[in-house]
Amino acid sequence: MNVPLLDLRAQYLSIKPEIDAAVAEVLNSQIFILGPRVQECEREVARYSNCSHGIGMSSGTDALLACLMAEDIGPDDEVITTPYTFFATVGSIARLGAKPVFVDIDPVTYNIDVSKIESRITAKTRAIMPVHLYGQMAQMDEIMEIARRRGVAVIEDAAQAIGAEYKGKRAGSIGDYGCFSFFPSKNLGAAGDAGLTVTNNPQKAEKLALLRAHGSKPKYYHKIIGGNFRLDAIQAAIVSVKLRYLDQWTAARQHNAERYTRLLGQTGLKIADTRAYAGGASSVDLIVPTATEDRHIFNQYIIRTRQRDRLKAALEAKGIGTEIYYPVPMHVQECFSYLGHKKGDFPQAEAAADETLALPIYPELTDDQAAFVVAAIVEFFRNQR
Ligand SMILES: *Cc1c(COP(=O)(O)O)cnc(C)c1O
Repeated sequence: MNVPLLDLRAQYLSIKPEIDAAVAEVLNSQIFILGPRVQECEREVARYSNCSHGIGMSSGTDALLACLMAEDIGPDDEVITTPYTFFATVGSIARLGAKPVFVDIDPVTYNIDVSKIESRITAKTRAIMPVHLYGQMAQMDEIMEIARRRGVAVIEDAAQAIGAEYKGKRAGSIGDYGCFSFFPSKNLGAAGDAGLTVTNNPQKAEKLALLRAHGSKPKYYHKIIGGNFRLDAIQAAIVSVKLRYLDQWTAARQHNAERYTRLLGQTGLKIADTRAYAGGASSVDLIVPTATEDRHIFNQYIIRTRQRDRLKAALEAKGIGTEIYYPVPMHVQECFSYLGHKKGDFPQAEAAADETLALPIYPELTDDQAAFVVAAIVEFFRNQR
């Protein structure tokens, strides 16, 4: 049996007529830059995220960059974020000449440890950029309390978390801005690069709309310096079709996550959840995600073990696709060496980078495939004894 990490073709085939018709409609209209399909996608994603405004962007990366630009963040400014994320979060801060200021993660959720944010705020801090990693939201109450009291903006990196909830509130709707990515492997994936920013602030929405089109209004009259960060109309049309299926796909991912946790718990392996592990549970084989009341959309299902690299190789040998998100935390990346960090500065992020592994969790995963993955994990640990 072959179990890929993700099976985008299976998803496409399940809705092929609708996707093909949506693409054909844009081709027939020949309206590729902004226009009705982009506006429709913006309205729909904003509504889905419980926000008043949506601004289509060319990628999740550009969505983050445009928000920082909208806040006029640049040299001499500091932005607080997590070192355990995809490069784009930190890269967008650094590209504007601002300084990324890292805060270690909470090992229960792998998200920014909110108890450590306050001590990193200085007179130069302009924003906090929490990342809702793997589809689970960061602790936004604490983040918003600190941000409001200290007068800094909050830009939610919700690239992996569309539709996730924190205390009933949707990802992207709590901070000043929320940024989504429609990179193909995200829960709502386009057929290429695409992204979108949501906000509940009309002035911020207007500035983002300017920034994504070279800062011009009307055309050729440039008020501020922007870029080309526009969402493509073909991508927008595809995202609109797929959005209708997102809740169904999310339910399938949640089902798959529950099934992994249940099956792994029945194997006789020593299993703990991240909460028990962070609380000091020792001599466990495998750590599984902690179940939460909040809506977790499981962009990834993450297991954790000290034998991560050998487990990954054993699963690969059986035709099971896995991935490491992410093997090198941002503070020890070569390109950020100028920040002066060293190994040991953010121990929770470093340990997670050494020990976590993503299993196949995509909606189309079958019972047999899930059972095969679990059996392969059990076999690996039996052979270790
Ligand atoms: C995917 C991702 C991004 C970037 O999105 P792109 O659309 O690929 O530019 C940013 N942050 C996180 C956490 C991501 O997972």
